[in-house]
Amino acid sequence: MGKQLAWDRIDDTASEMIEASNLIWEYAETAFLETGSMKILCDLLRKEGFEVEEGTAGIATAFKGTFGSGKPVIGFLGEYDALSGLSQVAGISEKMSLMPGAPGHGCGHNMLGVGSLSAAIGVKKYLEETGKSGTVVYFGCPGEEGGSGKAFMAKSGAFEGLDAAITWHPGDMNRADTRASLANYQVAYKFYGTSAHAGSSAHHGRSALDALELMNMGVQFLREHVIPEARIHYAITNTGGYSPNVVQPYAEVLYLIRAPKNSQLEEIYQRVNKIAEGAALMTETKVEIDFVKGCSSLISNRVIARKLWENLHEVGAPEYTEEEMMFAKAIHESVAEPYANLEKFAAMYDKKADKREIMSHKGEFIHRFVLPFHENGSQGFGSTDVGDVSWNCPTAQIYVATWAVGTPGHSWQIVAQGKSKLAHKGMLYAAKAMAGTAIDMIDDPSLVEAAKAELMDTLDGEHYICPIPDGCKPRAIGVKKA
Ligand SMILES: [Zn+2]
Repeated sequence: MGKQLAWDRIDDTASEMIEASNLIWEYAETAFLETGSMKILCDLLRKEGFEVEEGTAGIATAFKGTFGSGKPVIGFLGEYDALSGLSQVAGISEKMSLMPGAPGHGCGHNMLGVGSLSAAIGVKKYLEETGKSGTVVYFGCPGEEGGSGKAFMAKSGAFEGLDAAITWHPGDMNRADTRASLANYQVAYKFYGTSAHAGSSAHHGRSALDALELMNMGVQFLREHVIPEARIHYAITNTGGYSPNVVQPYAEVLYLIRAPKNSQLEEIYQRVNKIAEGAALMTETKVEIDFVKGCSSLISNRVIARKLWENLHEVGAPEYTEEEMMFAKAIHESVAEPYANLEKFAAMYDKKADKREIMSHKGEFIHRFVLPFHENGSQGFGSTDVGDVSWNCPTAQIYVATWAVGTPGHSWQIVAQGKSKLAHKGMLYAAKAMAGTAIDMIDDPSLVEAAKAELMDTLDGEHYICPIPDGCKPRAIGVKKA
């Protein structure tokens, strides 16, 4: 069978891939600073005969590896950034920093980048052996966490010309994703006032902190009058110092605004801007509106998602040893609500039989089953920059179990499991399912056509407009450059 060529190649290169994933885990480089991780991935691509382009879209840690020629052109998306402050010792089931305050791979992107690369290598082998027409492109996408790297790449046209894009994310269960995600903008509102002695000459002062508080209060009233799916979060990133006896001359708040559609998001953003300007007017301060990043809503392609789901079944979930199960159990027991995710997913299905099937897995420490295919995925309330790829070409993703049931997102438990056998086995499972799906599309051009027709129908005449304004450069908020 043709797919076996790819799957064998994935097995043959497994030890190198595991080593790469472990090393990226150790580097734990945060958004747009992933130089070491990028080098590991680029070296692997070159070794496999891919043509590598570094600095894609003018971003130092973005890159692309291409192999093959002709149609279809299939992209695999890889991420490799870590999260700040999540340093954790690997292989234990208690919270313990490896290096206090240092970053850690709390979202499993060490596996994500390598798993997608492993899939690309498998497909390359298939193209080579069969001589079939097809191009495989691996996209090294930096700064997913708080940076929306793919949106910046999309703005420069990096994903144009793709017939399909496939990716995955580590998780605690196996499923093909058909959910939508929210578009978002991250914007810093910087207030400038006038400092003065808060006791003796307060009347000369104009408080930037007062302006910030008034803005937050205004947005609080706005929340009732936006669509219910919208989300408006904030973090006060600068309160203007620690001295109450000084009128604060500067204050800064970071907003993260989300909505299902880019157009709805833009409208809410303009209303938040008016509130910020109103707060500045009331306090005789000035406000600077600094757009940090944005990403589009995710359009999950059901044609490709279904193929991914079929391939998850065809490959079959990995087997685990007693020792691996015991580690999963120990992590599972460290979680407060270990079945919250399972219950959340069961609630999304209409058919009672599906709900029962999902809940029958309660009691497991690591899930080996594949969730039933959900044709009409519900609205998710998170965001991903995969959204910007999905407006450019048919795009789908899978989630694969790489960690114990109930492991929370962005947690020390994820970092603790990042170099485990659970992680490695899940990563290779994901790679095989993704490679198998790409091969299905290479073998059957009608699949690509159906996926494209679905996207055209979903867009219904709308076109991709990148949410990133001209001149806005990629950066990660709150990360100090070494
Ligand atoms: Zn992630």
